[in-house]
Amino acid sequence: MQHFIPSDALPRLRLLRQAFPGVPSAVARAAIEQHTQPGDVILDPFVSGLGVIQAALELDRKIVAASFNPINLLAIRATLWPVDARSALTHLADAPKGSQRLRDHLRELYTTRCPTCGRASLAQHFVWDRDRGEPGEKHVSCTVCGENIGQIDADDLSKLKRYDPRGLAFWVLHGRVIDRNHEDADRVSEVLEAYTPRTQAALGDILSKFEALSAEDRSALRPALLATFDSCTTLHTPDESRYPSGLKPPARFIEKNVWLELEQQVSLFPSVSQSLPRVATIAELFSSPTPAVCLLVAPARELIKQLPVAALPLMVTHPPLPRPGFWSLSAVWAAWLWGKQNSQVDHLLPLLSRKRASWDWQWRAIGSALTVLQPALRPDARTVMSFPADEAIIESVLLAAASAHEVVDHLTCDPHDGVRVTWRLGVIPSSAGTKNLGQPIVQHLLLERAEPTQAILLKAGLLAALGQTSALADIAHQPDGESPPLAVLRAAVKSALEDRSIFEIEPQVWWLTDQALAQSPLADRVEYVIVELLRAQADWHTVDLLRAVYRHFPDHLTPDRAVLATTIHSYAEESSFDQVHLRAEDHAAVRAAEMQEVRQLLVEIGPRLGFEAIVTEQAVEWLKSKHSEYVFVIQATAAIEALLRAETGVLVIPGGRATLLQYKLARAARLRDTHWKVLKFSSLRQAAQQSDLTLQTFQLAFGLEPPIEQPATQIQLL
Ligand SMILES: [Zn+2]
Repeated sequence: MQHFIPSDALPRLRLLRQAFPGVPSAVARAAIEQHTQPGDVILDPFVSGLGVIQAALELDRKIVAASFNPINLLAIRATLWPVDARSALTHLADAPKGSQRLRDHLRELYTTRCPTCGRASLAQHFVWDRDRGEPGEKHVSCTVCGENIGQIDADDLSKLKRYDPRGLAFWVLHGRVIDRNHEDADRVSEVLEAYTPRTQAALGDILSKFEALSAEDRSALRPALLATFDSCTTLHTPDESRYPSGLKPPARFIEKNVWLELEQQVSLFPSVSQSLPRVATIAELFSSPTPAVCLLVAPARELIKQLPVAALPLMVTHPPLPRPGFWSLSAVWAAWLWGKQNSQVDHLLPLLSRKRASWDWQWRAIGSALTVLQPALRPDARTVMSFPADEAIIESVLLAAASAHEVVDHLTCDPHDGVRVTWRLGVIPSSAGTKNLGQPIVQHLLLERAEPTQAILLKAGLLAALGQTSALADIAHQPDGESPPLAVLRAAVKSALEDRSIFEIEPQVWWLTDQALAQSPLADRVEYVIVELLRAQADWHTVDLLRAVYRHFPDHLTPDRAVLATTIHSYAEESSFDQVHLRAEDHAAVRAAEMQEVRQLLVEIGPRLGFEAIVTEQAVEWLKSKHSEYVFVIQATAAIEALLRAETGVLVIPGGRATLLQYKLARAARLRDTHWKVLKFSSLRQAAQQSDLTLQTFQLAFGLEPPIEQPATQIQLL
């Protein structure tokens, strides 16, 4: 995909909502439309989230969505094909625990005094202070007072003393995952420590009764149990905005009532559910006459055994990022849900190993998965990935694909919205070696953008260019000597920015040392295109307008969203929700007439102030004794090109462009010390009306918020 596709809202999973980064549906749709035909089979080999699946079905394609992590697939399956677990929960609740039912036994773990009336009531959750190692606050549901919050009391604390941090419950849960003498046993202990001892006791009881349920009940309860395992860790803050990343509890964390949480999760079963077509095997999928989904828990080496040769036109995916905390949790949860003797769980145990949690390991894992899957691709197949604009991710993913001899077709990047890369298979043009390979590329990128550019965009553009030759593959395949390939690549990228032809004009923004200006700055070109598009079509859906603008700026020319948004806002107003049109005053004829009027005013005012006024192609000049004193450049846009081409002058623009110009000046580090002045059409008109105008009072009209337009000055002038 040559042009940037902005993200749309990610479809939500029912479980672990924030846990899985995914491909935005809009990106998946664009890739599928561009590279496949209806009826084709698409592969997402590292499925995470719903974006690719939804896009494929909407466009009448069939999809294989696979992952080595059964936790991803359980969350997806529970969202797409929810199962009612209410009767299974009743069976679990009724299981005997000593002389009680399991439900009553578990509720007792959370009985406490209501902080308001003192009656026995049920704690919903506790807020812990990590450093003190105990809860300080409880949220209680009282039959009389309702839900209320109060301090922990002495009884609550003495109740907690019953639990031994590494007691029986701990080791029973541990034994459900791994042998105590296994080399990764300590990692499992770390995961278990992300549960309070009371939570461990409750989960241990639930799992021992869960195991005894029928296969159907177990299957129905797994999604709710998974959600409970997740939300009952000590890793969640009371006011969480993003998914926790490690295994270390935050300073304040929540301890939930495990049984209430499980009941709550079961009750979230949707009353109406969409029923998407699904098949169990890849063979069924290929023979299916209609679009369908095949979800598989399988690493690439298992997947390839089931895929026909040269059958797939497209892989679309979000690359798996190294997430040691989440992977360890996944391994433990999967063992609890399916038992440790399960083949799905076997794939996951190696993920407990910490050495796999680095990019050095991960790029090779992605690279070998891509290599393994290649026989299933058609010769003209494409691989498309979407991921965050993060330097480490871009480097590693590009190195991974290069190691699998995939050639970069296109890479587009928006620092805030992410990266989209398209690769193809094929013969790679060989590069001239890896020494100093980056410098001419970075220079070229800056020349083409013609404006100072963020380091992340330059690095992405550089890596894309290296991925179009054999340079990246050469690095990926060089023998692991003193420095591993990833380190070699990082060093090459770093040295490309250390060239004398470029410099860091402000932190993380680079520009050419020799400022020769070959063409308009990118932000100006974006503005011209937006005006043209808004003038060519009366009404635009904002998303369509964005896409149309991106179509003019392929690959490394992708402009950042802030420039697009500010420029569109300067020229367009909203007609209805998400629909925009050109402002009335910006229609071509209106602006042309206005510019003519402004030119005329400058021609008239000049002589009044003792200048000779002459009109040139772009400007009005005021001369004194044949010497040019003022050059007025009149334009209806906020283009800054004129300011870059001459040392000094007066830029005459409509007042409606002031905000956009201000924004462009703020991001143009080159113009920080400019001698240019700005004159708004409105200020010029005001000056023209003053009968006693002098050069001194005329100068009060200069600026984006000039003195002439401020009330105090007007009074003074009268
Ligand atoms: Zn009460």
